[in-house]
Amino acid sequence: MTKSETIELYTNYVIPNYTRNPIVFVRGEGVYVWDENGKRYLDLFSGWAVSSLGHCNPNVTKAIQEQAAMLVHMPNIYYTKPQGLLAKYISENSFHGQCFFCNSGAEANESAIKLARLHNSHRGKYKIITMDDSFHGRTLATITATAQPKYQKGLAPLIEGFTYVPFNSLPEVEKAIDDKTCGIMIEPIQGEGGINVADKEFMKQLRRICDERELLLILDEVQSGMGRTGKYFAYQHYDICPDIMTLAKSLGNGTAIGAMEAKTEVARSLVPGSHASTFGGNPLACAASVAVFETIQSEGLLKNAANMGKYAYERLSHFAQELPCIREVRGVGLMIGIELTTPATEAVQKCMEAGLLLNCTHENVIRFMPPLNVEKEHIDKGLSILQGVLKAVT
Ligand SMILES: *Cc1c(COP(=O)(O)O)cnc(C)c1O
Repeated sequence: MTKSETIELYTNYVIPNYTRNPIVFVRGEGVYVWDENGKRYLDLFSGWAVSSLGHCNPNVTKAIQEQAAMLVHMPNIYYTKPQGLLAKYISENSFHGQCFFCNSGAEANESAIKLARLHNSHRGKYKIITMDDSFHGRTLATITATAQPKYQKGLAPLIEGFTYVPFNSLPEVEKAIDDKTCGIMIEPIQGEGGINVADKEFMKQLRRICDERELLLILDEVQSGMGRTGKYFAYQHYDICPDIMTLAKSLGNGTAIGAMEAKTEVARSLVPGSHASTFGGNPLACAASVAVFETIQSEGLLKNAANMGKYAYERLSHFAQELPCIREVRGVGLMIGIELTTPATEAVQKCMEAGLLLNCTHENVIRFMPPLNVEKEHIDKGLSILQGVLKAVT
């Protein structure tokens, strides 16, 4: 099948709700992907941080192959081993809560919103405070939680019970709390909002406010979690713990899986019948995710992410001094945003033509999220392509 034949299939049969680049990808290995002409691309975006162990990581592929030959799905009215093992990995590497499994980030956040309401319904509390420029997903509840008007356009009426406040503004949070508020939901590092890092003091004070006012602190770690920042979860940089945390993106290194973890006393409110997911926690996705945890541990990838993040950050900061089009470089670990003074789409496009995959978010921010096992030479190569492109377009 030729490239134009593939694209024609989409034109005829796939709903055009995405702006797609005219490349047909056929194969991936580690930090590289190949198109159908055999052109190789260096992938330092990892598909929104999904392929965090690189494409077709051998440990994950092996786990998928073995599990696929053994048992792919059984409904949640029975037990399967991979789901239990995965829950243990998540719990023991975070705040010792209990997990609910689903299939995406939006569903994980939807679950968190439902749990927050269920846990507080006897008190008549249901409102959740979220942050400007947040991103929590595309279901009606999560798009309402997402405080960005561009994503909500045309979808009215939205869900009741969400209040928006500016990111990193404690007085605004305190002002927004009323007697119906049951929780505060926040990404410790905003991804789609342009790689905005929560202040240390802000997060600490949020935890204090939640304790004092009996609110649930819900952390959306769908993008920032699973080692991206050099620790398993971004909140671990803040010396606090959430009441609820959500995961997805890199959890299964490409297999569709989402998870919500809640402190045991909160988790109790999710009683049989109150919530469910047909595919949630299926053996195939959970076996892949267990392999993700095992690989992060056995290959020391938290450390590598921290070291490579520092290396990339220093290189970027260095050439930012020579390139006035760079306004700011920010992030934690391998979750880095390069804010330009101009729109970033052209630069990202030019990088792609030069064989480097990056992403543009929030109009003028280039998002750099290589796999956690990235090596110095990949970073050097990618950043020199980027540097050349930024010199040329500005
Ligand atoms: C991508 C993302 C989501 C939504 O995840 P989906 O799997 O696309 O539903 C939610 N929250 C954050 C922080 C994300 O980055």
